[in-house]
Amino acid sequence: MINVKIVILGAGSVGKSAITIQYVNGEFIDYYDPTIEDMYRKVIEINNEHYMLEIMDTAGTENFLVMRDLYIRNGQGFFMVYSITAKSTFYELEAIKDQISRIKDTNTCNIPMVIIGNKCDLEKDRQVKSSEGEELVKKWGGNIDFLETSAKDNTNISIAFEQLVKQIISK
Ligand code: GDP
Ligand code: MG
Repeated sequence: MINVKIVILGAGSVGKSAITIQYVNGEFIDYYDPTIEDMYRKVIEINNEHYMLEIMDTAGTENFLVMRDLYIRNGQGFFMVYSITAKSTFYELEAIKDQISRIKDTNTCNIPMVIIGNKCDLEKDRQVKSSEGEELVKKWGGNIDFLETSAKDNTNISIAFEQLVKQIISK
């Protein structure tokens, strides 16, 4: 089976772990230790082929910048997660993208990537418009996808993984 290495990046508490656990275990966890950084595995079938996903759920630990370097180096595709309820988390993606471009030594548009606006169930607390996410995708260019998700309601979670894996295997 072909292995596919995915890395979940984004600011603290945007829902990186909740997205991962929802996808892998099919449940929403209200609280997950924010310092836990772990790798999860799940098999996905696309066009009658099976792929073993290795999903790296990252966290903002002390040595995070150094560790993030390592994860990015090993990763084949990236989820760039912000929360639609926190504008600052949307702005933080730019620096992460720059780090990916630097490490991969290539323009971001060549790198498999899905931008995710999570917590879309919290419409009343929305700070980032859908159109802002769409504009960011256009700005970064390439084959990048954009989705709004809810790890809580399980909205668009498996679609997000499918889109990212399709980008990776079509490279
Ligand atoms: P991480 O630091 O990015 O891994 O964030 P977590 O997955 O630990 O989530 C941070 C907080 O946001 C937790 O209290 C989660 O229950 C909550 N959360 C995560 N995803 C969602 C979501 O889609 N909707 C709502 N309403 N809350 C969420
Ligand atoms: Mg986490």
